[in-house]
Amino acid sequence: MKLPLLTAAISALFCVSAAAQGVDYSKLEIKTTDLGHGVYLLGWQGGDSLILVGDEGVLLVDTSVAPMGDKIKAAIARVSTKPIKVIINTHAHADHFGANEALAKGAAIIVAHDTLRERMARGFTAFNQAIPPSAPAALPTVTYADAMTLHFDGETVQLFHPSNAHTDSDTLVHFKRANVIHASGTIGGDGGYPFFDMGSGGSLEGMVVAENKMLSLADDKTRIVADEGDPASTETLKASRDMLVTLRARVQKLIDDGKSENEAVAAKPTKDFDARWVHQGNFVTGDAMTRLAYQSLRSVTPPTTPR
Ligand SMILES: [Zn+2]
Repeated sequence: MKLPLLTAAISALFCVSAAAQGVDYSKLEIKTTDLGHGVYLLGWQGGDSLILVGDEGVLLVDTSVAPMGDKIKAAIARVSTKPIKVIINTHAHADHFGANEALAKGAAIIVAHDTLRERMARGFTAFNQAIPPSAPAALPTVTYADAMTLHFDGETVQLFHPSNAHTDSDTLVHFKRANVIHASGTIGGDGGYPFFDMGSGGSLEGMVVAENKMLSLADDKTRIVADEGDPASTETLKASRDMLVTLRARVQKLIDDGKSENEAVAAKPTKDFDARWVHQGNFVTGDAMTRLAYQSLRSVTPPTTPR
């Protein structure tokens, strides 16, 4: 579907913000945060990565953009001398699989949702940027449809696919022992409004399903990893889900009342949320969120799995 009002505004956004804004990758530093039980957050300025390290080797969630590959490798080397054995790509934004080939080196399996492999194989467009077909060595070698469980280094790593959430190819990654979830972009970085990329098959309805799924996995100590910033708490995740559910009801009522998109924006259905969820420099303002919600509720068939 086309998003004439929003595509221009979101052409330089997070998830691909660093790439879109011409960031000098040589100046970016990776901040490594120990989340316990061999799990580390590798944070930069875009699609943050997670690693699980142990005797068996390294499991890496998201490889960032190609120019960051060496920095990811160096960050891993600071906590493990073992090779990368498993790579998981969470979704179809270029900052989550860009360094696959360099980091897999033909030796690691690459795991992703079926749709992500299809997108990577044929090339696609995200945020108005053409992503060319990936090299064969960069493509996922193991794909799944709904859910998958990996057993690695004593950890149980559960993968879940929420339909049409941040994109159409999301994988939520749950490290059970470490009590960490990679949200695949389904929660806002640094506690901002969560973003769903309708041009890549995302939807408001799917975001609610994804956040409910994560809440079903979480307890009060779970850390939830967004695309950037420190991990969110379960409390923040719950607040995000509640906000999305309320916003969905408000915007649906405006639609049911026959309001146009501009009239819906003028009604300010996010006004009591903006103080908490609009962050400096974040493109997702209250008005942008209303437009996203309106367009999504008018256009996207609600997903059915998983609940
Ligand atoms: Zn993304």
